[in-house]
Amino acid sequence: MAGVSAKNLALDLARRGGANWAFRRMQRSRLLVLTYHGVVAEDHPGDYRFRSTVSRRDFRTQLETVGKLLSPISGSDLIDTLDGRRSLPRNAVLITFDDGYRNNLTHAAPELERAGIPAVFFVSTGYIGSDRVLWPLEIKLRLQDWDGDPLPLPGGLEVPSDMDRGSRTAQILKISDLCKHLSDAERRRYLSQLRARPWSCPLDPEVYAFMSWDEVRDLRGRGFDIGSHTVEHPILSRLDSDELTIELAASKRAIEAKLGTDCPWLAYPNGGRADFSADVVAQAESAGYRCAFTQLPGFNSPLEVPFELCRMDVPGHVHPAVFHSRLSGLFMLAGG
Ligand SMILES: [Zn+2]
Repeated sequence: MAGVSAKNLALDLARRGGANWAFRRMQRSRLLVLTYHGVVAEDHPGDYRFRSTVSRRDFRTQLETVGKLLSPISGSDLIDTLDGRRSLPRNAVLITFDDGYRNNLTHAAPELERAGIPAVFFVSTGYIGSDRVLWPLEIKLRLQDWDGDPLPLPGGLEVPSDMDRGSRTAQILKISDLCKHLSDAERRRYLSQLRARPWSCPLDPEVYAFMSWDEVRDLRGRGFDIGSHTVEHPILSRLDSDELTIELAASKRAIEAKLGTDCPWLAYPNGGRADFSADVVAQAESAGYRCAFTQLPGFNSPLEVPFELCRMDVPGHVHPAVFHSRLSGLFMLAGG
């Protein structure tokens, strides 16, 4: 914790000294893309279940900073740039949201409208209109609530769980991460094993509930762009060719049919280097997408690699100095 504070302090000093903007100047002709997941009414510092959600107050402050310092563009502006109809403004930034949570409509959209900032919302179509919990979160929550000893692991293994709460949480985060490296069939098998026990989600639906299609249409009607985040949110590089085709094509088709608009934007679930592949990129292109977003940090010259666009993640509880360093790219030098 002391290390984190020291880093925040260093980043704050760098900010006051103008280091962020000296750094950003070097990137001013390139596009910055920010990734959010959820916006909730209240802050919940220290609670890992809220680590991907930003409080509404923090979101408003962050948008004020973005509006003051950068030039927000929309998903459609990006397509116009890719098609040669316009060029990027200096210090261009695109706001994106992943997964399709209802809080995107109830908390994020009003703040974006207030700030006059556009955004692309990537939805996993298999979850829209359902009461399901996104599977990586479901694994964590089910294991947290797992009664008795030991905790099940994928592949029929087990690990003792009679440990203190902090160690148990660390163990559970490790298991959930491990599941992202399994073949999709193994991942689904493990989920079925966990689902054999009755369970009800202990979290406030404000955090995990998905939009209905009517709500997605509402977002679209308010001028926001809707992109695909696949159907089931699998790790695309773990799928066989047929499964991959379905995930990419069916989600695009569903969005276009439900909304009556084009869906040229795709965001790879998880989005790390190992989570997509040359084959995934080729299939995304042939499914008719125009660009795709990773979760690799960095700035973009979109015409160069439109199917490997980098994004800077904005987690919950982020210190303002860290947020500034993410806007400028300085955080890549500071190690996050
Ligand atoms: Zn996602």
